[in-house]
Amino acid sequence: MPGFPSVAFPKINWEIFIFGHYKSYQKAFSTSFMLRVKAYTNSVSVALTLEAHCAEIQAGLTAVGEPLACLAESNGFKVERINSTIIITAPLGKVTFTGNKNSTRISFASPTNPELQLFKELYADRISKLGLAEIIEWDPPRASIPLNQTRCEVVSCVNISKNFSRLRLRGEFTNFKKHNAGLHFRFLFGPKGVEWPALDANGLTSWPGGISKWHRPVFTVRRISVDADWIDVDIALHGGGRITKWLDGIKTSDEIAINGPSGSKMPKAERMFLFGDETAMPTIMRIIENVSINTEVRATIALRDPEDLQKVTEDKRFQIVSVDMRDEQKLLNTLKERIDLINGSYLFFAAEKTQAVKAREFIRSSSVSVGTAKIAAYWTRNL
Ligand SMILES: Cc1cc2nc3c(=O)[nH]c(=O)nc-3n(C[C@H](O)[C@H](O)[C@H](O)COP(=O)(O)OP(=O)(O)OC[C@H]3O[C@@H](n4cnc5c(N)ncnc54)[C@H](O)[C@@H]3O)c2cc1C
Repeated sequence: MPGFPSVAFPKINWEIFIFGHYKSYQKAFSTSFMLRVKAYTNSVSVALTLEAHCAEIQAGLTAVGEPLACLAESNGFKVERINSTIIITAPLGKVTFTGNKNSTRISFASPTNPELQLFKELYADRISKLGLAEIIEWDPPRASIPLNQTRCEVVSCVNISKNFSRLRLRGEFTNFKKHNAGLHFRFLFGPKGVEWPALDANGLTSWPGGISKWHRPVFTVRRISVDADWIDVDIALHGGGRITKWLDGIKTSDEIAINGPSGSKMPKAERMFLFGDETAMPTIMRIIENVSINTEVRATIALRDPEDLQKVTEDKRFQIVSVDMRDEQKLLNTLKERIDLINGSYLFFAAEKTQAVKAREFIRSSSVSVGTAKIAAYWTRNL
């Protein structure tokens, strides 16, 4: 692309081009600013877009950027300090503080809009904890719906086995299909009669009635259509569960809003050991269906009824066994029995909170070197 700076690599030409409306050179990072990095090969073109949003604060760089940089460092994230600029690189994106003794401009940039929304909200909360919420001025948002919210419509809800229902939702799920998108989302259930959460004048989510009044359980996208216009969600039914109750009265065309994509992304490894109870079966099945053909997967799933076990039709290198979920220790014991095989592999363990805590302790104390481990509490039993 002529007129734009480009750097030549042996096989790839990287081109960086910037577009947007600039109020002035200093304010180059306006709301509609976008930075695109394009990698060209002979036949392939990959575009990576960074979505951005800015804020200005009447407080010096040392008062705002420095404490947040220290926090990021303590969380293990990269922090660069260059003259009057501090850049933090975190999983959700990059935040840049540019300032002097009196004021600081803060610019957030993330690979996707949903990540940008989460990133801004995380930092808005941190800035508020520094006691600076009153003096921050955000650039006005372009949208009215939070960038991580999708409004969907119920297409169907069918019982697929004794303890599982499958819900199909229609909507615009392009973000869920993106490379590296999180596998999960949250349903949004608010107090009776209120509107869906919307963006306030700062581009932050305003929760009618207050966020604590919203039930926001995390679920997994089990499957997504080729055109990203529907998703399937597999729900483990349990007495007393609010989602189970909601499904009881559900009708085609009912509207629901969800926040996502979020959470863990598709893992990559040559060998994977996956352990999960019924709530993690959707994650495990999605991983198995989407891993590369060369990946070897061994999965153990704890189920109330072995007939709930889903079949995988793909021609992949996997082995799935089910164990009885009513024996609370069984999943953890199976992990313990297999630990020697897991050396150097990817490990996933997701179940009820007490089991996840024990699994984490066990892995920490074990002499086996796990490649990457993802150990998560998927639900909490009422004591
Ligand atoms: C990353 C992630 C992904 C998940 N994906 C899925 C998924 O795809 N499908 C799925 O079914 N679940 C999934 N879960 C688990 C789900 O979020 C929880 O089970 C959640 O509590 C269900 O919300 P609810 O409104 O049905 O239950 P609530 O109304 O919040 O629960 C009421 C009570 O029931 C108990 N309870 C909660 N969950 C269960 C359970 N599963 N079994 C027995 N008792 C329970 C609790 O003690 C709770 O106090 C996932 C969780 C995480 C963290």
